[in-house]
Amino acid sequence: MNSASAQPPSSQQYDAIVVGAGMAGMYALHRLREKGLKVKAIEKGSNVGGTWYWNRYPGARVDSQAYIYHFWFDKALESEWQWSERFPAQPETERYFNFIADRCDLRKDIAFNTSVIAANYDESRQRWVIETDTGETFDTQYFVSCGGMLSAALTDLFKGQESFKGQLLYTARWPSEKIDFKGKKVGIVGTGATGIQVIQTIASECESLKVFMRTPQYITPMRNPKYTKADNDAFIEDFDAMRKRVRSTFGGFDYDFHGRPYSECTPEERKAQLEELWADGSLSFWLAGYSELFFDEKINEEISEWVREKMRERIKDPELCEHLIPTTYGFGTHRVPLENKFLEAFLLPQVKIVPVKNNPIEAVEPEGLRLADGSVHDLDILILATGFDAGSGALSRMNIRGRGGRSLTEEWKKDIRTTMGMQIHGYPNLFATATPLSPSAALCNMATCLQEQVDWIVHAIDALRSSGKTVMEATEAAEEAWIAHHEESSNATLLTKTDSWYMGSNVKGKQRRMLSYTGGVNEYHRRLDEVRETGFKGFEMS
Ligand code: NAP
Repeated sequence: MNSASAQPPSSQQYDAIVVGAGMAGMYALHRLREKGLKVKAIEKGSNVGGTWYWNRYPGARVDSQAYIYHFWFDKALESEWQWSERFPAQPETERYFNFIADRCDLRKDIAFNTSVIAANYDESRQRWVIETDTGETFDTQYFVSCGGMLSAALTDLFKGQESFKGQLLYTARWPSEKIDFKGKKVGIVGTGATGIQVIQTIASECESLKVFMRTPQYITPMRNPKYTKADNDAFIEDFDAMRKRVRSTFGGFDYDFHGRPYSECTPEERKAQLEELWADGSLSFWLAGYSELFFDEKINEEISEWVREKMRERIKDPELCEHLIPTTYGFGTHRVPLENKFLEAFLLPQVKIVPVKNNPIEAVEPEGLRLADGSVHDLDILILATGFDAGSGALSRMNIRGRGGRSLTEEWKKDIRTTMGMQIHGYPNLFATATPLSPSAALCNMATCLQEQVDWIVHAIDALRSSGKTVMEATEAAEEAWIAHHEESSNATLLTKTDSWYMGSNVKGKQRRMLSYTGGVNEYHRRLDEVRETGFKGFEMS
């Protein structure tokens, strides 16, 4: 498609195609439409919501406070929505996305049940040609990918999955109908943030629950008070100030690192501070306590031990402690999950841990899971909460070809590169949100970062159009500079020394590179603003 070519026959013409109808995709569709562009969003699911459409597993809930995890573009619209609690469950969040879609009349411009199977940049016409699994072809000037940081689910993990006689469930593709666990022998693989939410929710319902555990997680307890109308009114009162505040913190939350450094505090002061943050029951223990835990191994170990002790107090049983309390990596170097009586689930007689670190899962048999030692665990229901090809997965599964026919999938197998996560050199007019090397999950409250990124993209497209130019592409030099800055800030942290999806180490063969920008949401936004204010320096417009 890179030699001189005509517009593909029977293709539909658009100014912008947005991929995904989660928070970023919905907002991009709304904003670009407001700017007068002809826009279509393409969404694999049958409705809006993205993460909150797909991840409808039992216990799924947000861990950013509701009053900062929402759309920021219309205060009056927000004032019509009443959140029921601090960390709402998936059904409420999904209802909220539907409320926004209804009120902004978004659905008429979304092609649901449709996946992108190829996207080719036609150099001669400077347009993208996007093909879908429904046989449609879209011809567009701007290709805006809002496919999500954690959307490319890792589902085909074990040999023999298709042979399982029971029910095989993926948390990231959970069915709409209610699953009855009563009287069932259930097994779950995965104890990340997702697995934790599932286990604590279904443990008491199952006849038996086997947790096939490879790596234990540090946890922090969630405090989830109900919200009254007065609470919601107060959030709306604070809406404009809060909107500014979340862009100025390290994590895009309304809390931030501001206390005295750990090294300058007495042991009593440290204990008091840690207790206070722990009692807050949010991610503030991690992202608004002592920032040295990200950099200093000794301090990290002291805080890790403090958390371990909190976990021991709840579990007590030494054998359970052995299985459930992490010792091989430091607190906060994995994405920290919030939990609610997760540890207590293991005190139920029907819940058993099956350690699979040294005796890995070999295959799924018709009856259940087979481990390396040959043992087979009989199951009626097998749940895979096994995570995502994070950051790069959404784009690399789309079969994208840029200038000169270069394949993003092939290039990213060797080297995952972006410029501020917004563009990729070699792929003109491809804009993206939640991509590698931009702030991501929990190192950013996604609602803050996604909307800031969409705003930046809309500004860029606006700038192009008003200058009479048609194409924007990150320069190679700007991309090199961003990667160098990204590597410098991430290599200073302990996160890069730990295996996790942040480092791509959960996907076999994936390049080991910190996927999330660790310089802080505040610094990221400062840099995005700077680029915008300097006429998009580092991005070539032609
Ligand atoms: P994850 O953190 O990547 O966890 C995947 C789990 O599956 C890990 O426990 C992993 O073990 C295990 N696993 C994978 N392959 C395995 C195998 N072959 N054998 C045994 N165990 C295996 O994925 P996630 O829990 O879905 O969470 C991903 C991210 O989504 C989170 O970090 C968070 O950012 C986001 N999330 C947010 C919320 C929320 O509250 N807002 C809720 C859920 C998820 P190892 O650790 O040993 O690899």
